[in-house]
Amino acid sequence: MKLELKCKACGHQEPVYIQYKCPKCGGIQEVSYEWTEETEAEIKSWNNNDDNSFWSYRRLYPIQPASIPVSLGEGNTPILPLKRLGERLGLSDWELKNEAVSPSGSFKDRPMAVASTFAIERHISTLVTASTGNTGVSASMYAARAGLRCKIYVPATTSREKLALIKYFGAEIVTIEGNFSEAYLLAKKDAADNDWFNVTSTFMNPIALEGNKSVAYELFRQKKTVPDWVIVPIGAGPLLVAVYKGFKELKRAGVITALPKMAGVQAAEVAPIVQAFQEGASEVTAWKRSFQTAAGGIADPLLTYPQDGTCTLQTIRESKGCALSISEEVMLYHRKVLAETEGIFLETASVTAISAAVELKEKGFADADDDIVSVGTGNGLKDMSSL
Ligand SMILES: [Zn+2]
Repeated sequence: MKLELKCKACGHQEPVYIQYKCPKCGGIQEVSYEWTEETEAEIKSWNNNDDNSFWSYRRLYPIQPASIPVSLGEGNTPILPLKRLGERLGLSDWELKNEAVSPSGSFKDRPMAVASTFAIERHISTLVTASTGNTGVSASMYAARAGLRCKIYVPATTSREKLALIKYFGAEIVTIEGNFSEAYLLAKKDAADNDWFNVTSTFMNPIALEGNKSVAYELFRQKKTVPDWVIVPIGAGPLLVAVYKGFKELKRAGVITALPKMAGVQAAEVAPIVQAFQEGASEVTAWKRSFQTAAGGIADPLLTYPQDGTCTLQTIRESKGCALSISEEVMLYHRKVLAETEGIFLETASVTAISAAVELKEKGFADADDDIVSVGTGNGLKDMSSL
């Protein structure tokens, strides 16, 4: 199977190997697959496949056919109708893709399963990442499962539960007295100096991000239709971009004809992508203001890599979607209402996807009968101290 990395900026393409930006222009890369009739036939067969596991979609992961997956039972998360919450908040056709039930409690298990499988394939010894918590917990679990070493750079503000878990799974942890962007630079240098695999969940690692596309494959398979809107909480936004890529692959294979609109949601305290969207800017600029938010998982000012935000902004615009920001007060209110009306406990960063569904209707982006899916990216149980 021919696998290549293609630059999203200049189109330069070369075989997959471990690199984190285009060698020609420094742009963000994505994995490109050899696309044949056989590829399309296999994608079309997914709907009739008895196997609905994460690895049933491996034809579109950058993994060799003979590789044994590193797996903890990731993916295949439920889609839950939000009927009672919808009645309370005035929304009818609304569902939650509940990533909170993933092995580590967040969607990050999807990219980590692919990244650790790839690392074993390529005889890489160590996963290294910068993390606000969820990536770190997931990386430490998958590294343990795969027998890899793991080193995590975290801001000192990371929740105590997440830090405790990362340590418990045996990863080396480096705490930074600064924000995520500073942890990002240190992880980047460490990976480059030691030939380790950098699995930081920005657009850094195009291999890992391919795992996120499975959210799109599963959504179509579970709903048997394409939702009008998919709402994704975004820091830099790689999940949003990957989910849209997944839908585009289904369309290219002739499985679906329409694509969803993508809504990216940020905390109002740190919302560089929303700001660029609202200003009609073509590029995202880094968020220089100080901030404090309960939505730690998406609190990314994009210092030193605003181009990652631009990549997400472009996808939002391509999909005719929108970017929304949510105040602290509103997200905390919805966290409680979601728990009380549906019995679902999401971490605060993920609840922004709930709040954004209400905003979509109120601000007139979505029509009254639009079918909306909120992606609940992470579990509240790792964020208990914030209660
Ligand atoms: Zn390039």
